[in-house]
Amino acid sequence: MIKAGILGGGQLGRMLLQAAANYPVITYVMEKSVDCPSGHLCHHFVAGDISREEDVYAFGKELDVLTIEIERVNVAALERLSNEGVKVIPHPTVIKTIQKKISQKAFYTDNGIPTPDYVVTESLAELENHLERLPAVHKLSEGGYDGRGVQILESNQDLPLAFDAPAILEKKVKISRELSMLVACSQNGELAVYPPIEMMVDPYLNQLDYQISPAILPDEVYWKAEAIAVKVVQAFKSPGLFAVELLVDPSNDVWVNETAPRVHNSGHHTIEGNYSSQFDMLWRILLGYPLGNTDPVLTSAMVNLVGAPNHAGNAVYEGLDQILSIGHCFVHIYGKEETRPGRKMGHVTVLHADRSELLHICNKIKHTIRVTSEK
Ligand code: ADP
Repeated sequence: MIKAGILGGGQLGRMLLQAAANYPVITYVMEKSVDCPSGHLCHHFVAGDISREEDVYAFGKELDVLTIEIERVNVAALERLSNEGVKVIPHPTVIKTIQKKISQKAFYTDNGIPTPDYVVTESLAELENHLERLPAVHKLSEGGYDGRGVQILESNQDLPLAFDAPAILEKKVKISRELSMLVACSQNGELAVYPPIEMMVDPYLNQLDYQISPAILPDEVYWKAEAIAVKVVQAFKSPGLFAVELLVDPSNDVWVNETAPRVHNSGHHTIEGNYSSQFDMLWRILLGYPLGNTDPVLTSAMVNLVGAPNHAGNAVYEGLDQILSIGHCFVHIYGKEETRPGRKMGHVTVLHADRSELLHICNKIKHTIRVTSEK
């Protein structure tokens, strides 16, 4: 049987392993501690540091295929493994490009992919040479996630908020919509595109609030979003499952914000909402099977369950009984022992033929369930 490894053991790995149970595959996970969300769902758990070359190399060298559930992995080890015949999906070069916002932006520009105009600022001092670009968005090149490496600079007064580290200063787009496009690319280069997902962002946490798919879009936006997402994935020249995040402005221009070359938070709803989920699809890609069907089963929406403010410690899921008594809901708890404010602890997907009813249920979920901590 094929031996497949996943670097990273968070919730994305967990859901990938849930889908793996349907296939003839032996799964391996590397993460620091077995107490992670993926620890007990894989056949073989290997404790290690996914950013250390020796750890990743030792983990991968006995495997047939290797994938990631987070980008912060050691690429040098993946390159060595790939040269020695281990299939690495996505290709290490893609991960390398994506890891730094500076190289990711250059990749879009070099490939004629529309992305907000930007300059590189290596330090705060360099940023001060570009103040005429404000208002703009300052983004750390490396190490930011879930909106935490992103700072909007409205005017010079916001300079103390800027990063004194390699970053990009990007034109601020007037956002009318945020979309995510999931695109699958098989080992033969065949593509399958999921229906567009519209993401609603919580302005306080700068984190996803809920998302709905298929998004109802003007035809012009729909076709641009699909064409741009396909262009991004074709330019990477690598098999994999990709999430292309797009910003749409009031003139219906569509810009690439960033791409994740892996299963993604914006695709959680596909588990129940689409015939082949993003996780099922990635297994088809990794194991060399035909791609799955991306059609929606029904309209679906997804609410992230994040740790409530002012609560840190052993997690308690308040209101879970009530959610489980609502029809149309699918609850996913990630098995993280400890909650923290804003930490992703689970999600709920809702399927409904009626979109207004769907949003009504999402709202109810948001007001019913809270992830708090033991007293
Ligand atoms: P992260 O990598 O941490 O998820 P993103 O680059 O996706 O960060 O940015 C987080 C959020 O910031 C986006 O979802 C969007 O709402 C906002 N944002 C990002 N880039 C721009 C931009 N150029 N103009 C306006 N808002 C932006």
